[in-house]
Amino acid sequence: MSWEVVIGLEVHCQINTKTKAFCGCSTEFGAEPNTQTCPVCLGMPGQLPVLNTVAVDKSILTGLAIDAKINLESRFDRKNYFYPDLPKGYQISQFAVPIVEGGYIDIPGKEGEKRIGVTRIHMEEDAGKSMHEGLEAVSHIDLNRSGVPLMEIVSEPDMRSADEAIAYLKQLHQLIRFLEVSDADMEKGQFRCDANVSVRHPGEPFGTRTELKNMNSFRFIKQAIEYEVTRQIEVIEDGGEVVQESRLWDSVKNESRSMRSKEEAHDYRYFPEPDLPPLRVSQEEVNSIKAGMPELPGQLRKRFEIEFGLSPYDADVLSQTRNLATWYESLVAAHPADPKRCANWLANELLGRLKEAGEEIENSPVSAELLAGLLDRIADNTISGKIAKDVLDAMMASGSDADAIIEEKGLKQVSDSGAIDAIIREVMDANPEQVEGYRGGKDKLMGFFVGQVMKASKGQANPGMVNQRLKELLK
Ligand code: ADP
Ligand code: MG
Ligand code: ZN
Repeated sequence: MSWEVVIGLEVHCQINTKTKAFCGCSTEFGAEPNTQTCPVCLGMPGQLPVLNTVAVDKSILTGLAIDAKINLESRFDRKNYFYPDLPKGYQISQFAVPIVEGGYIDIPGKEGEKRIGVTRIHMEEDAGKSMHEGLEAVSHIDLNRSGVPLMEIVSEPDMRSADEAIAYLKQLHQLIRFLEVSDADMEKGQFRCDANVSVRHPGEPFGTRTELKNMNSFRFIKQAIEYEVTRQIEVIEDGGEVVQESRLWDSVKNESRSMRSKEEAHDYRYFPEPDLPPLRVSQEEVNSIKAGMPELPGQLRKRFEIEFGLSPYDADVLSQTRNLATWYESLVAAHPADPKRCANWLANELLGRLKEAGEEIENSPVSAELLAGLLDRIADNTISGKIAKDVLDAMMASGSDADAIIEEKGLKQVSDSGAIDAIIREVMDANPEQVEGYRGGKDKLMGFFVGQVMKASKGQANPGMVNQRLKELLK
């Protein structure tokens, strides 16, 4: 009997406010440990939290972008547990009434788009960071992260494979970055995921789930889910039962291990946060946030297809980040004659070279205007596409413009028919058998002659003219 996988995801995403959720401390990443703290985020008794309204607005914006319901009145609760990196002994979170409920994210799939439900988005605060590495018998605690605002985005158990889970996470990650509500840098832990996984036979009720905790790499998440699916199926097929538990992925050993079972699970003893009033927002505020909503990735993809005639694939590649899309639009503005040529050269040539160099588009040594200058020289037949690739290499290395490099290296395309005829005659003299063969009906030899002439001209002969003159002279 076949198995069906069921996955629901909880994503913790740091909201990119300048200051923390309930105090004025900086949220800047990477500072000296414990330099961005105050009595509030250190959990000193008697200190009162003050809510950061920017975090509220950004949570609402995210809710609106996934077509969710915004609760005009929501609540904060205390989630109680003991851990050394949690000085207050509780985390302020939204438990009973979150700010956002419902909504969805559409993911691409083999049979078209699939809609994944979002259960809720609630606000909470991050804990500090415990550090154990390289230390013996002690742990160090950094409380700079204590009190940084988070959104927890909880999905419905709607995903049916690790691939669907990754597709959902990628869509969500992209959306959040477009909305500029989080930098969502996974390496900095700004976008982390808990994956809830169970298996069942199709049509049966959901099976018992396990929860894979705190992963911050798409690759590890996929590996961890796949490992967990195999493990659960083995347990059941061996006559056992899946135990509800939290598990940790070990990316060195490529396996997960149990962290705590249901019996050991925390009882968080949630209760309403007495130091914060209910959070009220007006419909007018929500409307004004909605009015300021930026273009979303899906809208941008469709616009690129319609406005610039791009394939869905190219439109998707060029809309991966807002910066890349803006870069492409600057390129088209500077080389408006051919948006598809712009797309090809950006997606295939420039991005390929940047990837090799480990760079992002923001750090490209070749600007949109400079790349447009190169494309202009292809368009007016000064150089061929092939030579242009070499010119781009030189531009990447030197940062100078295409014209200077073409001039300096003498790469101008030869479009002078006298010069081209001379090369063709040389090639014909050197290859009398092929000339005879061609004239005897072996049309396929044309490719051979074109190749030889291009080679003899070091790629600089105008290919259109070479074809035309060859046909004449080989008659
Ligand atoms: P908790 O807060 O204890 O983790 P929730 O009920 O809020 O529990 O569920 C958390 C996540 O688990 C949600 O994303 C939900 O979709 C998912 N989930 C619930 N039941 C299952 C199941 N049987 N299999 C897989 N995922 C599940
Ligand atoms: Mg959970
Ligand atoms: Zn503080």
